[in-house]
Amino acid sequence: MKKNEKKLNGTVIVTYRCNAKCNMCNRYLFPSKPEEELTIETIRKLPNMYFTNVTGGEPFIREDLPDIIRELYKKSDRIVISTNGFFTDRIISLAKEFPQIGIRISIEGLEETNNKIRGLPDGYKRGYDTLMKLRKMGLRDIGFGMTIQDQNAHELVPLYDISNKMGMEFATASLHNSFYFVEKRNIISDRQMVAENLELLINKMLKSSSPKKWFRAYFNHGLINYIYGQPRLLPCDMSFDTFFIDPYGDVMPCNGTKDKEIMGNLNRQNWDELWESKEANEIRKKVRCCNRQCWMIGSVSPAMHNYIWIPALWVLKHFLKRLISKKPYSMYENKICRDYRDGKVTKEQLDRLSTCEIIEEH
Ligand code: SF4
Repeated sequence: MKKNEKKLNGTVIVTYRCNAKCNMCNRYLFPSKPEEELTIETIRKLPNMYFTNVTGGEPFIREDLPDIIRELYKKSDRIVISTNGFFTDRIISLAKEFPQIGIRISIEGLEETNNKIRGLPDGYKRGYDTLMKLRKMGLRDIGFGMTIQDQNAHELVPLYDISNKMGMEFATASLHNSFYFVEKRNIISDRQMVAENLELLINKMLKSSSPKKWFRAYFNHGLINYIYGQPRLLPCDMSFDTFFIDPYGDVMPCNGTKDKEIMGNLNRQNWDELWESKEANEIRKKVRCCNRQCWMIGSVSPAMHNYIWIPALWVLKHFLKRLISKKPYSMYENKICRDYRDGKVTKEQLDRLSTCEIIEEH
């Protein structure tokens, strides 16, 4: 590593192939071809990273994933793979070689709901069994990932309780529209109901004894803010110390933009040339005035580190409230939730604040 070189936060999309058919993501209809996907030579050109998320598509579709991970560990302090957990044998085999690896299995609710949302018969059982096997092997950095929508919000807390019993991490997200999901119609319809379920989760997290969960509570507070179409609680610094790379070698600021934004291509360029290019700087200017207000862990986690005092003050305030109240958090701390409750803003007005393009078209 060069002197004064800053480690980055990177997301490596190893494939756009996927065996699931989720209702909030059409990527499976537009897969990459195996022969055009990131090669080990390109992976070798990536910079040093303090954190790497490996994702897809479904990353375990690639049978050479262990080779990719081996290469990534030469330049990354921590790696977490996002997967639907279906390819149990491949996951277990990888975990045997890299017991320090993080695995997040996307589960969208209890069995029936999950399988319906993900279009993956047997998906819940496969995902759950994979997690149990990883737990038995002694893997520590494992957990659930759930994308909250109208259809599964009522199972948010039950799934959190299951993950807690299993001693696992519980990561959340909500619906986004972008080129990455090949989707522009995602929208939460019953915001009040979804926010009420998030409020229950936030209070459970705040009452736990884990500081990590208190910060997760802040993230979920930000999700309520997001689904009501409000400006992000933290600035977005994607493309400054964070990047995404797709299966074609294109380096991008994030996965939340409407159209794909390209800083450069790592198949053809080297990292320094790409990162300092005119194109990359143009993208950084666009990020500074981006109005999509995403609230996904990929862009929020680096921001929570960079602006740590903002979530820390929120956590402190609610920690103190915990001492005097059984319910330290209320969704009505958000002005927009009060305004909606009080009829000062309508559902149609909130719909128009979302990135759902069908709303704009009507
Ligand atoms: S808000 Fe940030 S993460 Fe979302 S599209 Fe804009 S730059 Fe990307």
